[in-house]
Amino acid sequence: HPMLALEHVGLRIGGARILHDVSLEVRTGEMLGVIGPNGAGKTTLFNVISGVMKPTEGVVALDGRDVTGEPIHRRAAAGLGRTFQTSSLFPALSVLENVRLAAQAHAGGATSVLRMPRRTDAATEAAFAALAEVGLADRADAEASGLAHGEKRKVEIAMLIAMNPKVVLLDEPMAGVASGDVPAITEVIRGLHRGGRTVLMVEHHMDVVLGLVDRVAVMHHGELLAADTPEAVMANPLVQSAYLGEAV
Ligand code: ADP
Ligand code: MG
Ligand code: MG
Repeated sequence: HPMLALEHVGLRIGGARILHDVSLEVRTGEMLGVIGPNGAGKTTLFNVISGVMKPTEGVVALDGRDVTGEPIHRRAAAGLGRTFQTSSLFPALSVLENVRLAAQAHAGGATSVLRMPRRTDAATEAAFAALAEVGLADRADAEASGLAHGEKRKVEIAMLIAMNPKVVLLDEPMAGVASGDVPAITEVIRGLHRGGRTVLMVEHHMDVVLGLVDRVAVMHHGELLAADTPEAVMANPLVQSAYLGEAV
């Protein structure tokens, strides 16, 4: 079975059709880019996959199991991870403390920062391993508030890694990142993929998307227009017309 499957997923809010008949399979270890004009439903798709929103039609299956009705925390425990917004970093805490909180939350333990951890506890070890994976081990003791935007993005990805996900959803990981930091964050995302994780990434930087992904899914007006290799998607007339005259 695929790692993630959407079967005829639809979402209506009030009278508005936000998602319509989206069917998509993502295989284990695949990296899928999700593109589409602004308002196409990309973030909503991630909300439906992660459990922030429940679809009004269709099925979401994770690793062969129907999770359509399950709350966010059950899907997270089953291996579905999503990047935190920058605002979810505790600014007065260190990089290590922030990542350790994510590891503790995943382990289901108390998430107190008042309790001084031993260097040997499992959450601290998971946090150090995650920081090493994103290349921030030497910034473990830095206060989160003092980080550059690109470093904050890396900490968010480290928090995700500390929760040991099988599937990772990244919503515009390059948003707000200085262009000089884009290659480093691209490498971190490549590393997530090499680690065997299944990655879905909404991203507007097409050079980043095309340089990373196995397949590209194209959303437009809540529908999935195409899910194919980057070359096939770029040559698809439906995709080309979807972008004509629209701000991406
Ligand atoms: P994208 O991420 O592709 O830019 P979104 O998924 O954020 O698009 O939004 C898709 C459409 O759904 C937009 O028209 C947006 O206004 C609408 N939308 C998203 N969430 C809600 C909501 N909670 N209530 C009503 N409309 C929503
Ligand atoms: Mg948008
Ligand atoms: Mg969005």
